[in-house]
Amino acid sequence: MLKVAINGYGTIGRRVARAVSIQDDMKVVGIVKAHPDYVSKIAAREYSLFLPDSSGIKAFQEAGIKTAGTLDNLLDEAEVVIDCTPEGQGEMNLPLYKKHSIRAVFQGGEEPDIAEASFNAYANFDASSGKKYVRVVSCNTTGLARTLAPLRDARGITRVSATLVRRAVDQNDSSKGPINAIEPSLGFPSHHAPDLKTVLGNISVETVAIKAPTTLMHVHSVEVNLGKEASASEILEIWKNYRRIMPVSGKDGRKSTAQVMDMAREMGRDRSDLYEIAVWKESVHSSGSTIRYIQAVHQESDVVPENVDALRSMFQLSDKEQSLAATDQKLEIGKELF
Ligand code: NAD
Repeated sequence: MLKVAINGYGTIGRRVARAVSIQDDMKVVGIVKAHPDYVSKIAAREYSLFLPDSSGIKAFQEAGIKTAGTLDNLLDEAEVVIDCTPEGQGEMNLPLYKKHSIRAVFQGGEEPDIAEASFNAYANFDASSGKKYVRVVSCNTTGLARTLAPLRDARGITRVSATLVRRAVDQNDSSKGPINAIEPSLGFPSHHAPDLKTVLGNISVETVAIKAPTTLMHVHSVEVNLGKEASASEILEIWKNYRRIMPVSGKDGRKSTAQVMDMAREMGRDRSDLYEIAVWKESVHSSGSTIRYIQAVHQESDVVPENVDALRSMFQLSDKEQSLAATDQKLEIGKELF
């Protein structure tokens, strides 16, 4: 059993901890929480809870939350750390991981050069094989890579142009907006284009990103130039072989992100998550070798299976197909619904 530490237990960390803890070949030896809040109280029932350093011990004691030590202690116990701390903190943590000679998985909020490889399970599973430091690309990049990698492998891709409508904040965040504005990223392309190339290869990619006042999901409108012509039904056939892509339809009521996430709640998934990328079937259009489609990305959870697979690739625990099958089975990904 691979011994995994989770540093940072927010939106991503808590989900990755649960996903790791239900696999057969890995276990969570501890999580790191910085504040003695309600999340820490609940987490301490499930996991050994460690602090970033000794300065917080008194506050946790006063809150009646049992702690097992500091990050230093946890890094001695674990074989790998999944860093789920806020954007930019991972870079500051890297020297400590190096000091402890521990391998690390970082998240998409970090710059690509923090790691030896960026990771997406469909796009480049084997590029992380045997690596010490790996970065799982962001939720938006993961969403794009998920649906594009199968098209790249089946038909070849010469160009991608995508418009990303991004959720403003996650559901548990009341500190940021916008709550009544639509805010474009003014640089062109948005940072997603170079990020996508880190996993998909050196293809021509342009992205535009726009923040909208919603918490549920991102929505992407994607245009792809393929190396070979394909009809809309051929594209949907290609995606059928990939469990982490879920075709949805407006015909049975799933017309917006509101109903797509309502479906996830009705499915009874852990935390009502939707790990799969939802692609609206009606939105898939073909004109010769140019394809267009619209997809929705549950930003809080789409990177979760990728973190599990990244570990298997780094430690060569299993090959791509075996790893994806094991992760998907435990997280109930790709269960035929409709
Ligand atoms: P978050 O703010 O929800 O969680 C971060 C957690 O780390 C919080 O619990 C915070 O208290 C804790 N923390 C802060 N400083 C710490 C420290 N020094 N040591 C240990 N813990 C510390 O952030 P998040 O949304 O989970 O994002 C984590 C990473 O995942 C970022 O790189 C982000 O870009 C990336 N990511 C986020 C999303 C998303 O939609 N939220 C999606 C994909 C990737």
